[in-house]
This record gives sequence, structure tokens and C-alpha cells, in this order.
Amino acid sequence: MPVYLFKCTRCGETYERRMTVREREQGPPPCPEGDNPSVPVCGNVSVKTSRKS
Ligand SMILES: [Zn+2]
Repeated sequence: MPVYLFKCTRCGETYERRMTVREREQGPPPCPEGDNPSVPVCGNVSVKTSRKS
């Protein structure tokens, strides 16, 4: 399952979400910090879970 990168339009937080292509086609998920809308940063990010700040 691909990992997509999204950015919240409100708080500016970026977050990764693993979702199916079908889920992705339904639009970006809301920000986990709140229920703010988010925009995709790029279409498809390869799995990278090596480190988190
Ligand atoms: Zn947010």
C-alpha cells in the first residue's frame, strides 16, 4: 500500500498516510491535529519510516 504525504492547510503540519489508491482518489484525509482540510504534497512517497523528528 503506498504512502502519501499531505499537508494541512491550517496548521501547516505534514503527515504521511498509508492508504489505498481507491481511498486516495476520494480525496485527502483531514488533518490528524484537528478536522482541518489538507492538500497532497506529492502524489506518492515511497515508504520511509527510518526517522521522525
Ligand atoms: Zn492541521
